[in-house]
Amino acid sequence: MSTVFSKIIAREIPADIVYEDELVLAFKDIAPAAPVHILIIPKREIATVNDITPDDEPALGRMFTVARQIAQDAGIAADGYRLIVNCNHHGGQEVWHLHMHLVGGRRLGRMLARPQ
Ligand code: AMP
Repeated sequence: MSTVFSKIIAREIPADIVYEDELVLAFKDIAPAAPVHILIIPKREIATVNDITPDDEPALGRMFTVARQIAQDAGIAADGYRLIVNCNHHGGQEVWHLHMHLVGGRRLGRMLARPQ
């Protein structure tokens, strides 16, 4: 099932693309949660982490090396940042094309709120 991210890959809808190669695409999140908020996606339509296969390992590895480079280029590598991959409903996933959030540029606080 195609998503809005496939349309971005196909240039059918606009996005602020910051990186592209044969395996992955990276673009600015439309609703940034931090001064730097980039989405890094595999070009293959993988719905969720549950749908990953061993064949996807090159693209998944590339997502990390691209994240590292984008963070360095954005000047946030030394201070630090967070990489997030949400999976399915409990994980808070909203777009069914696997994506890595790269968020930084401010102190992000604890990873998760603890239940009271
Ligand atoms: P998730 O909740 O992990 O599925 O995150 C989906 C992310 O996609 C959200 O942070 C949205 O703001 C972002 N998003 C949705 N549509 C677009 C779009 N057209 N361009 C850029 N980011 C988008």
